[in-house]
Amino acid sequence: MSNKPGLTVLAGPTAVGKGTVSTYIRDTYPEVWLSVSATTRAPRPGEIDGVHYYFKSKEEFESLVAAGEFLEWAVVHGQNTYGTLKSTVNQAIAEGRSVLLEIDLQGARQVKQALPDAQFVFLAPPSWEELVRRLVGRGTESAEEQQRRLETGKVELAAEPEFDHTVINDDVRRAADELVSLMGLTPHPRQTQTPSAR
Ligand code: 5GP
Repeated sequence: MSNKPGLTVLAGPTAVGKGTVSTYIRDTYPEVWLSVSATTRAPRPGEIDGVHYYFKSKEEFESLVAAGEFLEWAVVHGQNTYGTLKSTVNQAIAEGRSVLLEIDLQGARQVKQALPDAQFVFLAPPSWEELVRRLVGRGTESAEEQQRRLETGKVELAAEPEFDHTVINDDVRRAADELVSLMGLTPHPRQTQTPSAR
């Protein structure tokens, strides 16, 4: 039973660094099949359709919803819609891959309904103060948007007991390695010494 590949869901509060951890995993662990979500959000510079997301118009997204193509979908931060396509995930599971979904909390709850045997991992900040620092430190949102995200973050932190495991994102590589271990894979050995910056 142990160490079997399967589906792992990574969720956690706003600005905890889910995206950074999953990017690190995409770049470092090709043995993990990282699900590519569909979204109605516009691509950011450098984002590639089919790699980072499947970028969809609202109409395209709605017809995928109507056709029952999503394992889960949600409106995130009251703005854009994101969803996981059943077809791609089912195929990867059928192929015996170790599948990782990096999604928001609403989506994680839907996956728990649909696939209760999946593994649910909560990515937590080292502290509430650190979460606030990361959110504000990002500097990309207006004060009003920051406030809105903080409120969402508080509610999201309270969801931790719904999850099978908690990984603290104190260091991206360490957190990613712990996640990979929870997926039954072997973390890559690290270089013992970080070259000093000169
Ligand atoms: P971003 O727009 O910064 O790439 O992602 C914003 C949020 O959307 C993140 O919290 C991320 O976890 C969430 N998200 C990305 N893909 C999905 C998905 O397929 N389903 C759900 N429910 N949330 C997603």
